[in-house]
Amino acid sequence: MKIAVPKEIKNHEYRVALTPTGARELVARGHSVAVQAGAGEGAGFPDASYEAAGARLDADVESIWSDAELILKVKEPQPEEVARLQRGQTLFTYLHLAAEETLTRGLMASGATCIAYETITDRQGGLPLLAPMSTVAGRMAVQAGAHGLEKAQGGSGVLLPGVPGVAPGKVAVIGGGVVGENAARMALGLGAEVTVLDKSIPRLEVLDDRYQGRMKTIFSTADALDQMVRESDLIIGAVLIPGAAAPKLITRAMLGDMKPGSVLVDVAIDQGGCFETSRATTHAEPTYIVDGIVHYCVANMPGAVARTSTQALTNATMPFVIALADKGWQKALADDAHFLPGLNVHDGQVTYAAVAEAFGLEV
Ligand code: NAD
Repeated sequence: MKIAVPKEIKNHEYRVALTPTGARELVARGHSVAVQAGAGEGAGFPDASYEAAGARLDADVESIWSDAELILKVKEPQPEEVARLQRGQTLFTYLHLAAEETLTRGLMASGATCIAYETITDRQGGLPLLAPMSTVAGRMAVQAGAHGLEKAQGGSGVLLPGVPGVAPGKVAVIGGGVVGENAARMALGLGAEVTVLDKSIPRLEVLDDRYQGRMKTIFSTADALDQMVRESDLIIGAVLIPGAAAPKLITRAMLGDMKPGSVLVDVAIDQGGCFETSRATTHAEPTYIVDGIVHYCVANMPGAVARTSTQALTNATMPFVIALADKGWQKALADDAHFLPGLNVHDGQVTYAAVAEAFGLEV
């Protein structure tokens, strides 16, 4: 199969969808791999390392896209990329369509087959291609929040660990899944006082058991959120309803109850955000202030640590890439009940229920 790896073009996105190790594996299986010149540089993989792996380097973005049967990317296609996508091609990447109607309609119009990393499932009911990036984003969320608390960033001037004689800062994590657990774990490691809210009792049980009471677990209700808003120095939004837009859990009115200079980190921004005042930001300008509250809402957090993220992501995507390349998308999806939910758009139609519902479309 003809496989292409374009260079990512989203602002400050340095990851790449295939490492030289992955390219070598695909070439060994008889596939042809074309990598756009410079695609791996941001993640520390120079062009020569792909050539050594048997891939073909191509400096021309148009031919990279037009010659491919299977296109591997990291982020959702940007408008100029959607315009290049053609019927008969398969795109395998993060899509996060539920909050992106224009992109969804663009992919439908392309006629291409679009498979999303984030809706592939596993036997445990998890999302194996979201998990590695969620781990990275969760761990980064506390770094970002701690930085946002500094006065120069508009923060309250609280140091999360405190110091001897001064109490530590309070961190609330809404959603105790992969992002939430990793954020909570980092905050605990810093010495902050940590509370995790979730709607899932089994999830709260896992956290309670795993951390032996070192973090508080609270069932997520409107009352519990009101309390967290009043008490916390840093709130991390980490909820997910798979494939659907995030629920708005903190309204603008609630910001008035927060301590001035407190920080909201909305990791769920890639699903529309779980705070009413969230709007997506970039690594170039990650924060903004609304009613005295610092907001950090970077939609591609793992892009900032591209080396670690690329390796973690491609470890998880490679088995699916190999299945697509070896079998073609139809057989690869038909053979694997957990791969099948990855199909989001095919032949002009949305094929994933939560995305179709979000825009009133037929599945
Ligand atoms: P996950 O499914 O592992 O965890 C989500 C948790 O949210 C679940 O435990 C669920 O029970 C809980 N939840 C759902 N509704 C809730 C509510 N109303 N109150 C409290 N908890 C609730 O998902 P995840 O992998 O941790 O991902 C979380 C979010 O982070 C997703 O939106 C994901 O797309 C996003 N994400 C963003 C970035 C980024 O760069 N911004 C990177 C990775 C992941």
